[in-house]
Amino acid sequence: MTPLLHPRHALITGAGSGIGAAVALALAQQGCRLTLAGRSHDKLQQQAERLRAEVPDLAVTLAPMDVADPHAVQAAVQQAHARFGPVNILVNNAGQAQSQPFLRTDAALWQHMLDVNLSGTFHVTQAVLPGMLEAASASGGSIPGRIVNIASTAGLMGYAYVSAYVAAKHGVVGLTRALALELARKNITVNAVCPGYTETEIVQEAVRNIVAKTGQSPDQARQTLAARNPQQRLVQPAEVAQSVLWLCAPGSDAINGQSIAIDGGEQAG
Ligand code: NAP
Repeated sequence: MTPLLHPRHALITGAGSGIGAAVALALAQQGCRLTLAGRSHDKLQQQAERLRAEVPDLAVTLAPMDVADPHAVQAAVQQAHARFGPVNILVNNAGQAQSQPFLRTDAALWQHMLDVNLSGTFHVTQAVLPGMLEAASASGGSIPGRIVNIASTAGLMGYAYVSAYVAAKHGVVGLTRALALELARKNITVNAVCPGYTETEIVQEAVRNIVAKTGQSPDQARQTLAARNPQQRLVQPAEVAQSVLWLCAPGSDAINGQSIAIDGGEQAG
């Protein structure tokens, strides 16, 4: 059986770890050609090797870039385009979450959270979109464009001590809605996926922070985070990846401008 998304070109930022790595695997298994983006070339290289072990005939290229640097982004996207043609699926996943009480959130931290999480999404989308528009139009509808932004439940509600991150992720949700309307008649959908606490390095860092600040054990700290989820557990990266895959799959064309919580029901409360 032909895989669902063969031979689309998917570019995933932050593909070397966590949610991005899980998304890369899910898209690879469905026949995508992949561009893996992130700052660390070594991390991306290791991820490409792990993916090749799972999907031996995978076509994959690396695009080291800092998403906060528009020049680096343009150059890396041009290289990816030269290798596999226009990007059909863009997953804006690169992100960082730094915590501080608001009065200790200095202008540098504030700016950094906006640069990486919000402006990064803007820069990569701007670099990818001209090619995606052309491909979506040239295919006569058979190869739609898909943009999936990995926002967060922090894009839908507030959390204390991460005001800069929360503001940036709310911005990602706003950008998703606006761009979805702008591209609605161009055979491209734009959606956001909003994970709750998910078992990745970001959560490990949060656990280390809680341990340092409260004296809780690592297990207690993990439970504190898991307790936000009505299912009393951390979300797994593969669960987030499945929702990204669904948004990219044929049949999802009418889902546009949505911000879908993957949080065990946290947003329902
Ligand atoms: P992660 O494993 O730390 O992944 C983040 C990825 O982003 C890394 O691979 C990192 O690679 C890349 N990255 C960071 N800054 C970058 C930059 N300036 N330019 C390019 N790449 C950059 O954590 P994760 O949980 O999978 O995070 C993925 C996304 O999910 C983030 O947007 C995060 O906000 C979101 N999210 C996570 C959770 C959670 O609980 N884990 C919940 C909601 C939303 P390099 O270091 O190589 O650049």
